[in-house]
Amino acid sequence: MATNDERALVVLSGGQDSTTCLYWAIERFGAVNVSTISFDYGQRHRIELECATRIAEYASVSNASLPINTFAALGGDALTDSNIEVEKNTSADSGLPNTFVPGRNLVFLTFAAAYAYARGIDHLVTGVAQTDYSGYPDCREDTIRLLQQTLRAGMESAVVIHTPLMHLSKKETVELAVQLGALRALALTHTCYNGERPPCGECPACVLRAKGFAEAGIKDPLLKT
Ligand SMILES: [Zn+2]
Repeated sequence: MATNDERALVVLSGGQDSTTCLYWAIERFGAVNVSTISFDYGQRHRIELECATRIAEYASVSNASLPINTFAALGGDALTDSNIEVEKNTSADSGLPNTFVPGRNLVFLTFAAAYAYARGIDHLVTGVAQTDYSGYPDCREDTIRLLQQTLRAGMESAVVIHTPLMHLSKKETVELAVQLGALRALALTHTCYNGERPPCGECPACVLRAKGFAEAGIKDPLLKT
């Protein structure tokens, strides 16, 4: 159990995984010691940021939204360029889906660490996972371990990056959310790559989410029927 003066900053995207991580952090550090940060990075679906605000409110923690406008200018991925359709299949060249935003998690966690540093917060929590996902290389355990090492050196800090979902399948993530009492908050989350609400049910993100809930035998609270 954490001591009272340990505080945590959760990177909250408005999705299922980061919301589950928020509840993980609240259980571990206490709601009074937890705050959240979201990034406005030019994502094509503004609804994600609205969801993050609502989820933080629902969980009674603060939420800061920071603008990072550069990813959209870099171009080339379907999440920040509305001219690029979300593809169901991965690229033959890179083996990655075109929803991969190069460097996104590295930048998010670096800014989160800087924000935390300025406030004396040592614990960062992120919902990245290397299991059962699209294979984004910045979600892997090795990447996060090396980034933590780099941030500690570069900021002379004792920052710890927590990744509670790293080795969980989508099914296990749903089970963890239930165990943490996060299920009702999951009704406020956004997952769909096509930005639809109710979700389209067909994009890779919707399919993965549905599979996790089905395997866990839990009804997704986001779905009305
Ligand atoms: Zn969808």
